Amino acid sequence: MNPQQKVKQTIRKYKLINKSDKVLVALSGGKDSTLVGYLLYKLGYRIEGFHINLRLGNYSIKCEKVVRKLCEDLGIKLHVYDFKKEHGSSMCFHRITIQSKKSLKNCAVCGVIKKYILNKEARKLKASKIATGHHLDDESQTFLLNILKGALQLSSNTGPITKNIPDKKFIPRIKPLFYIPENEIRKFTKMKKLPVIYEKCPCAFDSYRLQVRKFFEKLSNKDKNNIIKNFEKILPLLEKNKISKINYCEMCGEPSRKKICKRCELLKLKN
Ligand code: AMP
Ligand code: ZN
Repeated sequence: MNPQQKVKQTIRKYKLINKSDKVLVALSGGKDSTLVGYLLYKLGYRIEGFHINLRLGNYSIKCEKVVRKLCEDLGIKLHVYDFKKEHGSSMCFHRITIQSKKSLKNCAVCGVIKKYILNKEARKLKASKIATGHHLDDESQTFLLNILKGALQLSSNTGPITKNIPDKKFIPRIKPLFYIPENEIRKFTKMKKLPVIYEKCPCAFDSYRLQVRKFFEKLSNKDKNNIIKNFEKILPLLEKNKISKINYCEMCGEPSRKKICKRCELLKLKN
């Protein structure tokens, strides 16, 4: 099955998108989210692009350029969120001030803030779903990382569609590439000559995930599928212990599992 057929199957099986949905595709400029945008367009869904320019120097300039090119080629609307304009500094500077108070990995800080922005902006744009480029390698790595961290419960919200408690302030996130291995994505985007930045984010050098990624290079796609199959087997158990109520962050009002959301916990460190 090629990626388009697999994505079609995943969307159908997990009811990821309805015809009435307006899907905001989170486009980073990398191969994964570019493929999501391309395939959802090909499959005829109502989509718009959303890009966060993190202002990481030349890298961010190149990312925005390819995202613009993709949206122009497909004829879809693009929303660009300028991190510096909204926050007064680049993601890098923002992150470093937080890290000066607490030792946190670069991607951990950036990931929390990006998720926060995506949900809030998607709501403003009246999108009913957010699509990201997470793929089979990402998802099986996350599952394994949660085991290594002794925090398997964190996996209870994962899957091709986020399983948070339905809430008007929370826009469901979908992962159409959930069952597609990274090497197939690379092959396909190269074959289709899609506008993609293949280089890694310059800040992604310290993550624990990198070590797991190295280990994954030795695994076959079948191994990765097996990891996900195991995850799916224990998911019902994890779901039993899930929190049953969503809170609103006491500081910013955004949906959160705890009294204060992860992004505001980070901002508290900054002040
Ligand atoms: P990452 O956490 O960087 O591996 O990215 C995971 C997913 O988040 C990507 O596949 C994109 O869908 C989305 N994403 C990451 N960075 C950006 C960005 N700068 N702008 C918009 N979406 C992004
Ligand atoms: Zn908050």
